[in-house]
Amino acid sequence: MKPKENTFTLTFLGGAGTVTGSKILIETPQKKVLIDCGLFQGLKELRKHNWEDFPIDPSSIDELILTHAHLDHCGYIPLLVKKGFKGSIHCTYPSKELAEIILLDSAKIQEEDAERASRYNYSKHSKPEPLYKIADVVIAMKQFVPHDLHEWIIVDENIKFQLLNAGHILGSSFVDLRVHDKKIVFSGDIGRKDPMLMYPPAKIEDADYIVLESTYGDRVHEIADVKSELLKVINETYQNRGVLMIPSFAVERTQELIYLLYQLRLEDKLPKIPIYLDSPMGIHSSNVYNSYQDWQNISHYELSNMYSDVIFISNFEQSKATVADKHPKIILAGSGMMEGGRILHYMNQHIENEKNTLLFVGFQGEGTRGRAILEGSPEIKFFGEYRQVNCQIRSISSLSAHADQGEMLDWLRNFKKAPTKIFLNHGEPHQTDALRAKIEFEFDWSIEIPKLNQQYTLT
Ligand SMILES: [Zn+2]
Repeated sequence: MKPKENTFTLTFLGGAGTVTGSKILIETPQKKVLIDCGLFQGLKELRKHNWEDFPIDPSSIDELILTHAHLDHCGYIPLLVKKGFKGSIHCTYPSKELAEIILLDSAKIQEEDAERASRYNYSKHSKPEPLYKIADVVIAMKQFVPHDLHEWIIVDENIKFQLLNAGHILGSSFVDLRVHDKKIVFSGDIGRKDPMLMYPPAKIEDADYIVLESTYGDRVHEIADVKSELLKVINETYQNRGVLMIPSFAVERTQELIYLLYQLRLEDKLPKIPIYLDSPMGIHSSNVYNSYQDWQNISHYELSNMYSDVIFISNFEQSKATVADKHPKIILAGSGMMEGGRILHYMNQHIENEKNTLLFVGFQGEGTRGRAILEGSPEIKFFGEYRQVNCQIRSISSLSAHADQGEMLDWLRNFKKAPTKIFLNHGEPHQTDALRAKIEFEFDWSIEIPKLNQQYTLT
């Protein structure tokens, strides 16, 4: 049934009950606007949604607004375009550049996985196909329309929006969407109160509706001296004469780690040990970071010098040689949850030796190799074969790019009056529920926790 005049609907097509697959549809009688278009990741039951028919006809969607370039927010875009979406994809300038890198990498990994699966025949499908290919990404990129923060974009006489800094990764934004006379704020992913590289998230004072992520809704990040923790793990591995492997998200986390290593080097605290960035995506992203210095909260001098001690691995031969080399070193490689990328080759080579260390520096989604190892799995499968997890496992959890429970509550305290409703999405159920309890206790606001494909009619 079509909504009446001045009412509109909000439908959660992803990122409900999970941290992946973010997609929220706003529909008036005239327009359909989708906010984020992420890939479901992790558990098989989640990933299977990527292969299902899209719940509505993609050609009926008018506009897409992208909060930031992470795969769980943008990874389905090439498929949406392939299925008929013809509208503009609005985001910030850095988001467009980062999304291109991330989507190309995603397509490449999918093509390689499908190819490898068919070669070694360890797929259950008769002919493994990628979800989308590099060519699909190239087509989708033509629909991107980049914007500055605070620029108003008019969709029609009833809908307009602006993007505001979310402080999560380079270019990340909240969406301040106006539908008729209502203001709806979508957090996308909300950054830390005091991010390492970005400016803090914009403070918003009013909204009729808020859609807030809850990735770390149950957690308070330790107040830790991240730099000292990192140094401790480096020294430990160096004393063991081992290899330190850091599966790192190419965007933000890699640049943060390089910034920390740069500071440790400046303070003359690092042992003489080479640092490699073996991640084509990490290298490309770092170049984007360099071209958007004004979007970052550190000095141009530091931004221009922080990469000088890092060896960028630019070709496969160099990567193969570095994988085989057992001398002490620090390796930053993707992917961050070890679901693909060059980190798998390092793990395959070094995971069974207890001299080596695997250091987690980011969120590990349910069902990923990273989560399994972090939770103590004694063996793990790479390239169709099991390997014993004998290396040292360490984790620095406070390096998150997501606000924790306290920081989200703090951000909500900026609102001068209660919204009509706050929707909590983008969290596993226990995380979302913990945040719900806290918000209920402190603010007494009306809270909804949407389920997948749940629709709300709002006025
Ligand atoms: Zn994100």
